[in-house]
Amino acid sequence: MGPIDAALYDIMCKSTGLPLYKFLGGYRDSIPVCVTFGYYREGKGITDLVEEVRGYINQGFNAFKIKVGGLGVEDDYNRVKAVREAVGPSVRLMIDASQAWDVETAILASNRMYDLNITWLEEPLQWYDDVEALKKLKLNTRIPLAGGEREITRWGARQLMETGAVDFLTFEADAHGGITEWRKIAGTASTEHVWMSPHHQPVLHSHLLASMPNGYIVECVANPLYDPFWFELYDRKPKIENSVLHLDDTPGLGLEYNQKKLEQYATKLI
Ligand SMILES: [Mg+2]
Repeated sequence: MGPIDAALYDIMCKSTGLPLYKFLGGYRDSIPVCVTFGYYREGKGITDLVEEVRGYINQGFNAFKIKVGGLGVEDDYNRVKAVREAVGPSVRLMIDASQAWDVETAILASNRMYDLNITWLEEPLQWYDDVEALKKLKLNTRIPLAGGEREITRWGARQLMETGAVDFLTFEADAHGGITEWRKIAGTASTEHVWMSPHHQPVLHSHLLASMPNGYIVECVANPLYDPFWFELYDRKPKIENSVLHLDDTPGLGLEYNQKKLEQYATKLI
């Protein structure tokens, strides 16, 4: 549903000659970028992590999301602390537990990491109780919370927002209900004082975030090892400079695919 919905928007925008973000409202023409990194890889330690983030800083990036939850709280604290020290105090730093913790560990970990000036803690709680239990965590942490990348409809997203615990909603337009569903959710989020900050897929989400006021940051991966698509799939895509993604006036999504790479990666449906 998501990709077909996006393709239909692309066609509608092209017929009007407008880029998607302007077709949807055109609140701004650029959006801040956050780089996700810090995956747990065998044989890689804190030194590698710091080296990796220094590489991104040298490329001009100034917001980062790092994985947590794969080790004990103290070991994770040391990883995030090393990154905070390497990037300095003014860089935005998010942490993503990818549903690794129970409530008790999430409270412990979030309080341990509070002094590292964390912009948000994402998906702190295990999948089997990741909505209602957020309320208990919220009462016991001072770090803002993010979640919603696994929700597939606006009803699921609404339930998450009704906890009052979610400050950033990471609902995806590409993998689930499409642009149409995403925009309905963004409207509800605006009434709940929740920022929209969708999970990954910057080629689509940058347009959506630039189209309305409660768009926070777009996520990208700046390493071809983690995301060959961003680096190989497009002959034309938005430019990222100094941690800001810039949109232009190309009608539609503004993308051109590299046909060779499309053949290599795509699945033919017909
Ligand atoms: Mg995540």
